[in-house]
Amino acid sequence: MAIRRIAYAYYDPDWIKGEHTLLALKRNTVEPLAYSLHMKGCIFCPSCYENITRVPADPDKGMTTNEVPAYYKHLKDDNAPFCSLRCGPIQYKKYSSQEDAKKAVEDEDLIVISGFLESRPDNNPRVDTEGNEIPIDSHFERKNGEEVSLPISRHHGESFKVPSQITSVQSLCVNFDHNYYREIYLVGEDGRAKRYRLCDSIKEINDITGGLPEPAFYFGKFWKIERFSGHSNVWLKISHGASFKDFRIRITNDTADGRGFFNENNFGRIVIFYSQVDEVGMGYMTPQLGWGQVALLPAKYDEFLIKDYTLSHHDED
Ligand SMILES: [Zn+2]
Repeated sequence: MAIRRIAYAYYDPDWIKGEHTLLALKRNTVEPLAYSLHMKGCIFCPSCYENITRVPADPDKGMTTNEVPAYYKHLKDDNAPFCSLRCGPIQYKKYSSQEDAKKAVEDEDLIVISGFLESRPDNNPRVDTEGNEIPIDSHFERKNGEEVSLPISRHHGESFKVPSQITSVQSLCVNFDHNYYREIYLVGEDGRAKRYRLCDSIKEINDITGGLPEPAFYFGKFWKIERFSGHSNVWLKISHGASFKDFRIRITNDTADGRGFFNENNFGRIVIFYSQVDEVGMGYMTPQLGWGQVALLPAKYDEFLIKDYTLSHHDED
């Protein structure tokens, strides 16, 4: 099985794992091509926070002798914690106690979502999106949910109670590169938790090959929008060679207005959403999504997402 690419390392010359808390880690992201010699020994895996190294070790070389683009890898260490960026198959972190599990949520290593906001919160400070100002938000889009029970114990069959949040996909798009590797538990109304890591589970809509009744994270490029009296349809761009003709995300008008979908400057941007996908006619459509389920990715992350998605899907071949 292909080993998942580590898109960036955290660089912090002062941080020592085990001695300093996770929150103290300065999360300066460094891609393999931006690596320089003074970072040696001070770069960390964005998933398990162990030391990693760059291949080739010489920062002036952008390729290995086998013509593979420079990359990061873990050090060999039999006592290292499990990391799915090291081992390939997706596995999720387990915790040895309730305290550890709660701490992981506090440290934002683990994201626990018990619902998405249905409508725009009153305290949302973003009023307009004139000019090139892109709506990004924020902790304002987050409120506390109930404590939920998750099967994240090292001991089989045991669950831990952790605090949850009611939030939005837009909120996950703030610090998107960090959240990309985090474990996300999404608890449905039935109390069942689904788990995701965006790096493994987000899917480009052009790669869809059939109706998908289970909700999941998707992204695509914003092509155009159409307004009706009760809702709006966001149309996404379809690649040449796709097996279908169109893709629509149905959203509330409140969401379309508030998220900036009627601002022409946002055409071409990446839309991220969480939904099931239904086959309709010659294409696909989502059920009506509310405020929390659809987001515009801040443009600064476009390249990061597209590059990593392309490279990691290429690896699977
Ligand atoms: Zn790791």
